[in-house]
Amino acid sequence: MESDRQHAPAPLADVTLIGRLTHQRTAVVDALIRAEGFVGAQALHNRLAADGSAVGLSTVYRTLTALAAAGRADLVRDAAGERLFRYRPGPDHRHYLICTECGLSRPVDSGPVEDWADTIAQTSGFANVRHTVELSGVCPDCGSRHAAAERR
Ligand SMILES: [Zn+2]
Ligand SMILES: [Zn+2]
Repeated sequence: MESDRQHAPAPLADVTLIGRLTHQRTAVVDALIRAEGFVGAQALHNRLAADGSAVGLSTVYRTLTALAAAGRADLVRDAAGERLFRYRPGPDHRHYLICTECGLSRPVDSGPVEDWADTIAQTSGFANVRHTVELSGVCPDCGSRHAAAERR
């Protein structure tokens, strides 16, 4: 259940974290927000090109990487190892379960992981402790498609 505490207005306001917001970077962030799911740099680059925005692939990639580093994008890897990004609207990061077949992603409860990470951060003496947790599998739709194919 999505809560409505995700502050919708001015999604670009704190994206200045990633540095100077050039027109091109703004276009990349905007396209990522509109993608509403995990998307790779190449796919986003293609969408921008289709919309008439001539943003180089390396700029797309750099912007996505900077967003993830600034905590404003979630990052997973697909089955082929490609990095996929998804815009994170609020400061609370989320973890996702992603289907390796169709790319479907959905947020999952990560309370125990956050508690564990917080404890490690507090007791290790490390600063800026971050974590990446990736969960992947085969979604129910893809699973039943396989089952149907096997029955044939
Ligand atoms: Zn699937
Ligand atoms: Zn987490």
